[in-house]
Amino acid sequence: MQITPYIHALKTPLGPDPGRFVYVYLIYGDGITVIDTGFNGTEKLITDYIRSTGRDPSEIRLIILTHAHPDHTGSAHALRDLTGCTIAAHPLDAPGIEHPDPMLLKPPAPGIQPMVSGGVPVGRLLEEGAVIDCGNGLALDVLSTPGHTPGSISLFLGKELALFTGDTVQAPGRAPIYTDPVALVRSLRRFKAIPGIRHYLPSHDAPAQGEETYRRLDESLAYIRCIHGIIRNAVAETPGTPDSLVLAGRLSSELGLPAGPGPHAAFIARTIEADLSAQGLDELLGE
Ligand SMILES: [Zn+2]
Ligand SMILES: [Zn+2]
Repeated sequence: MQITPYIHALKTPLGPDPGRFVYVYLIYGDGITVIDTGFNGTEKLITDYIRSTGRDPSEIRLIILTHAHPDHTGSAHALRDLTGCTIAAHPLDAPGIEHPDPMLLKPPAPGIQPMVSGGVPVGRLLEEGAVIDCGNGLALDVLSTPGHTPGSISLFLGKELALFTGDTVQAPGRAPIYTDPVALVRSLRRFKAIPGIRHYLPSHDAPAQGEETYRRLDESLAYIRCIHGIIRNAVAETPGTPDSLVLAGRLSSELGLPAGPGPHAAFIARTIEADLSAQGLDELLGE
């Protein structure tokens, strides 16, 4: 899907459930810059799409990974093998990209391919304030926006007033995953302070335009506040030391998320632990 003459969005599957997806974004400058790569195997969707637009995958010069999670890094190794491009990411998430958890490199079940095609060297480290020249007058500003992971970054393409947010904006109705709610709230407020955003380009939510961007940011902030409230109430009602997996079950049901064991329960439990250990979250949310 073409968003602007320079930006393309590719909706790629996130497992067998058709309702779950992750967006890969392509920036067509002098060469092609890829923002996130989907799970292992997505390289074929990406290269087929590029050919369908009359360009060639060999034009891929740079892959920017917004963070180290496998649904963003999965096909980076395969794409690099195909094109010889450079991989770029924030220093705090680079180790997980170069040396993925061995679990991600094994088939999760017989006949199912591993989530990640392999570890891949990060040839360019991106910190706050870095600017990436994509050619054609297209410059991407790197914003350090921690919270979902310590090394999560977002990208702003000033020429198109387009904001690529990775997983930083946690959408209501999806499993909340963050390592630092205080940093996350600050990152969301930072987005809100950017005036005149024309294209909002998240990973697991549909792209949006203009004012809708700011509505989504407000919804995400309200979601974090709601989650914090549920956790606080649950802890107050639970005698003894709270068990984060038990709290995860309660949080999931109060948020209307699919319950039960599985990777999501562990992720939500970690989010709860991050919420419980956060310093100054009440004051920040009250501002
Ligand atoms: Zn993620
Ligand atoms: Zn993701």
